[in-house]
Amino acid sequence: MVEFIRDRNKKEDNIIIDNQSIAPGEDMVIKIPAGRLPSDTRIQVYVHVYRSEKPGPILFVQGGVHGDEINGIEIVRRAIENNLFKNIDCGSVIAVPLLNIFGFINFSRDVPDGKDVNRSFPGNLSGSLASRVARVLTKKILPNVDVALDCHTGGSSRYNFPQIRYNKNDKKAEILAQMFNAPFAVEKPYIAHSFRKSANEMGIPAIVFEGGESVRLDGLAIDHGLRGLQNLMAGLGIISENKKREIDSLTISNTSWIRASQSGIFIWSKSSGNKIYKGEPLGEIKDPFGTKSVKVLSKHNGYIIGHNNASVVNQGDALFHVGFLKNQ
Ligand SMILES: [Zn+2]
Repeated sequence: MVEFIRDRNKKEDNIIIDNQSIAPGEDMVIKIPAGRLPSDTRIQVYVHVYRSEKPGPILFVQGGVHGDEINGIEIVRRAIENNLFKNIDCGSVIAVPLLNIFGFINFSRDVPDGKDVNRSFPGNLSGSLASRVARVLTKKILPNVDVALDCHTGGSSRYNFPQIRYNKNDKKAEILAQMFNAPFAVEKPYIAHSFRKSANEMGIPAIVFEGGESVRLDGLAIDHGLRGLQNLMAGLGIISENKKREIDSLTISNTSWIRASQSGIFIWSKSSGNKIYKGEPLGEIKDPFGTKSVKVLSKHNGYIIGHNNASVVNQGDALFHVGFLKNQ
């Protein structure tokens, strides 16, 4: 059995967030100041803490590092609403449904100056706004955490089929990804200054859930996200064994994009989740005048793990994100 509780150099009963102490058996919502709007409205990050009397792993779950990635936010929100974290068997859950409030109110991935919070870790309290938001996490919350799940959604008209992403060199993250049991488990190296990389540097194995498209709710992505979150909690022993059916999870070791060879109106005939074969038509790009049409053909055998929902595309635009099975 892999040990997920890390040496936090603290007593087991000590969770302190923003100078507030949460004892075993206690639940609490802590509001951490994260700046102000130009209107002088105060912005606070809501941190929901749930603790069992019994010691165990401390799981961190977050959504909305990218403010317009609604499915990630909705997964954590629904888990709170459905009392998934109440009366847990052991350990603790720290849940932040929405980190980047600045992006959320502007329907934007980023903070108002265009910087990406997920490229600003570990952050700096006197740095750019994105860097300050990142620092709220790394300074005030992560020191308490053993394992982390970061919930995202595909960006700018791109739909991601529900998938869990992890670094294959982090064996603990790989085990967490297996526990989660998403339709696809995708091996992805760390991105510089991302949450996942920063967590890893602090000794915290972290996995990323991706599902659906930004600004739109997607039932399939939310269902898989909630199901995976429960599986993860059961795997860590935080809740008792989950009755939910296990699904076949395909491990993807490599991915590549199929891009538009022409500009025009893009009509897809294959979509995310589909298995595809080399030479198979995946869609068509048509000019607006009813005269020209080119087929988009698959260059590989693989699985579509994401696709572009944009109706008008330019030459070179990414259309299909294709995943290749490990060991094939
Ligand atoms: Zn994201």
